Amino acid sequence: MSRIYDLHSHSIVSDGSLTPTALVARAKSRGIDVLALTDHDATDGLLEAGRAADDEGITLVPGVEVSVTWNGPTIHVVGLGIDPECSALQEGLKQIREFRHWRAGEIGRRLAANGVDGALEGAKKFATGALVSRTHFAHFLVERGYAKDIRQVFKRYLVHNKPGHVPGQWTSLENAVSWINQAGGQAVIAHPGRYRLTATKMRQLLSEFKDCGGAGLEVVSSAHSDSDCMTMARYCQQFNLLASRGSDYHGPEHAWVELGKIPALPETCRPIWHNWR
Ligand code: AMP
Ligand code: MN
Ligand code: MN
Ligand code: MN
Repeated sequence: MSRIYDLHSHSIVSDGSLTPTALVARAKSRGIDVLALTDHDATDGLLEAGRAADDEGITLVPGVEVSVTWNGPTIHVVGLGIDPECSALQEGLKQIREFRHWRAGEIGRRLAANGVDGALEGAKKFATGALVSRTHFAHFLVERGYAKDIRQVFKRYLVHNKPGHVPGQWTSLENAVSWINQAGGQAVIAHPGRYRLTATKMRQLLSEFKDCGGAGLEVVSSAHSDSDCMTMARYCQQFNLLASRGSDYHGPEHAWVELGKIPALPETCRPIWHNWR
């Protein structure tokens, strides 16, 4: 029987709400056979997740989701099958977390200038792992009643042209792919349908990604409509990219996303796991 893969998920190490152990247990209970833990810009959860996966009898793929700035927009690049001990990868991720640290302070200052006090300290209470993300600010703002839920708070406070938005530079596409490849992993563009790129920009992104050694595209994602999924499957053929499948699960309070509850890859796709042992 074919195995069920979910190759994109988060734990409390970044902006998810489950511990690596609880995440793996939930994946098992949802019928997943192969789970990738892909925390933003950090790998601290991989050891615990690997042990939990051994206990549960499922396979854990060590992963990471690297924040990239590409010609303006933020693009996420997932690394699958990485060796977390790789020093080039760890030095790169550390630089990104330093930028995150500065950005968190700046988000706090900008929110304060807009009448929201104590946001950095508030966000830090939710940030129990290696970094502070906008999701942690969102939890604080919802707790204080600035919006009814996480999605609404992003729209009102944390996106472009809103008080808590801080423009800035993550790492380059080339760096992200190179660190992942040096760590023995495969680089995959995460939730490509989320970036709302024009077809021209999308082709430019994919061709640069291929040129710097990228391996795959997340064809199936909880961020994708059926039509996004078909579009991405076509891009895979056009650019000779492997296809990945990941829920981008962040925890049970994000009730609209569940582990493994996403469609299978379209038949035309070559799965990124086709030659995994
Ligand atoms: P950051 O990397 O700190 O900029 O935060 C990005 C994270 O915020 C993403 O990985 C999502 O988990 C979350 N996020 C971004 N946009 C939204 C949104 N519109 N609604 C809910 N969560 C979002
Ligand atoms: Mn996230
Ligand atoms: Mn992402
Ligand atoms: Mn993600």
